[in-house]
Amino acid sequence: MIDPKPTASHFINGAYIEDKTGTPIDVIYPATGEVIGRVHSATPQILQAALAAAKAAQPIWAAMTGTERGRILRRAADMMRAHNRSLSELETYDTGKPLQETLVADATSAADALEYFGGLAGSLTGEHVQFGEDFIYTIREPLGICVGIGAWNYPTQIAAWKAAPALACGNAMVFKPSETTPLCALKVAEILHEAGLPAGLYNVVQGLGDVGAALVSDPLVDKVSLTGSLPTGRKVYAAAAEGMRHVTMELGGKSPLIIFDDAELEAAVSGAILANFYSSGQICSNGTRVFVQKGIKPAFLKRLAERLGTAVVGDPMDEETNFGPMVSERQRDIAEGFIAKGKAEGAQLVCGGTRLERPGFWLTPAVFTDVTDDMTIAREEIFGPVLSVLEFDTEAEVLARANDTDYGLAAGVFTQNLPRAHRMVKALEAGTCYINTYNDAPVEAPFGGVKLSGVGRENSKAAINHYSQLKSVYVRLSPLESPY
Ligand code: NAD
Repeated sequence: MIDPKPTASHFINGAYIEDKTGTPIDVIYPATGEVIGRVHSATPQILQAALAAAKAAQPIWAAMTGTERGRILRRAADMMRAHNRSLSELETYDTGKPLQETLVADATSAADALEYFGGLAGSLTGEHVQFGEDFIYTIREPLGICVGIGAWNYPTQIAAWKAAPALACGNAMVFKPSETTPLCALKVAEILHEAGLPAGLYNVVQGLGDVGAALVSDPLVDKVSLTGSLPTGRKVYAAAAEGMRHVTMELGGKSPLIIFDDAELEAAVSGAILANFYSSGQICSNGTRVFVQKGIKPAFLKRLAERLGTAVVGDPMDEETNFGPMVSERQRDIAEGFIAKGKAEGAQLVCGGTRLERPGFWLTPAVFTDVTDDMTIAREEIFGPVLSVLEFDTEAEVLARANDTDYGLAAGVFTQNLPRAHRMVKALEAGTCYINTYNDAPVEAPFGGVKLSGVGRENSKAAINHYSQLKSVYVRLSPLESPY
């Protein structure tokens, strides 16, 4: 196993840097509750050093060809794959997610993003528009300095999903990981620089919300990309508006997963498990409102309980384990609070929702039935391993109920009736829809929310538009006339 202790708190201008005058932040391994490291929150001096480094490096980076920039990102992708095991162990130390997951879902997903945007970098262009005898051309330009602010559930992936398109487009980035998971982004920075990224282009600073807030409102900053909760999103969006900064907001959700009577039962149960219990339920796009049509409900609940009984809960570093602890005591307390509310409001807890008698932040997979649309557990994002089953009769009814939420991150449909599946996803108010699957998020697919789940898209070619802007150039070849 690797030693998870970070070399230093921050990574600025191509090197680790420490400043112990900042507030200490303990790094806690969620599986045991032990302190495994300590970082210090960025002081104003550290923040200014990071922004100054980004400011100095960005024009030189932007002047390189896209192919040259892309080559470095693709080299970083190869290095991430070569170091997949140690990066996965670090992700497990940071988050508590089982190694069985982190080996296939974190550094690998980060590498995919670096490879994909590295490949795209050389093809980023403006366009030519013939306009009679005249013509217009557009120049695709970087935005400048981008700030990335991360959540704690996918620290390696979030760091790379923001770095890759930002750097491909010729920007510099200052990234602030979540204070709960400060380790992985430092490794992403280290690898990018080992791959040849010039100093100053990807800087990592640690800290709580106040550090994020200071970055968002700094005059040097041109764009902010946040992955976080809706309340934080509201604050960050408002602060960014002050300086007319571009934003990408990847926020929370309360997504519906709809299972029709004609669904293939085992696949639907797999979908519900993936939509609720992967990463101990701490995934923004989770389908936590599981609408099950009346006819299939008894069989669905029976198989769900049977299969949850086979979950291997335990040491996340054991590759047999497929269900780990929650990320923190605080997050477990929040989930337990929702479970208590669910019971108090009349839902039936059919399994799980209990702590394990061991150190660390363990909460077993919980399933509620008899959940109604107005209950707190059906309305608010829990961000924990809590699945709610809601019963429905008709397609029109479930569609209206599924859309009756302020969020709109994802939605899923299980049915063998394909016309119905397509009809449903056309009408579902969500940024990502799944048919007979759930939570796949390849870099090729745009990812982001509608309604209160966010603004903008990560991944895919769509992300390019959120990290670059177009300059129009009008070129006159026809005679120029003026009124006097
Ligand atoms: P959070 O909102 O508490 O924190 C997110 C980040 O914002 C942290 O780095 C935090 O330090 C920072 N922050 C807090 N206040 C700030 C402020 N005023 N200004 C600037 N930065 C500030 O979220 P969390 O608990 O870390 O993560 C869980 C949330 O993230 C859930 O709501 C989840 O749905 C969401 N999430 C969304 C996606 C997505 O892609 N849509 C992915 C993962 C998580």
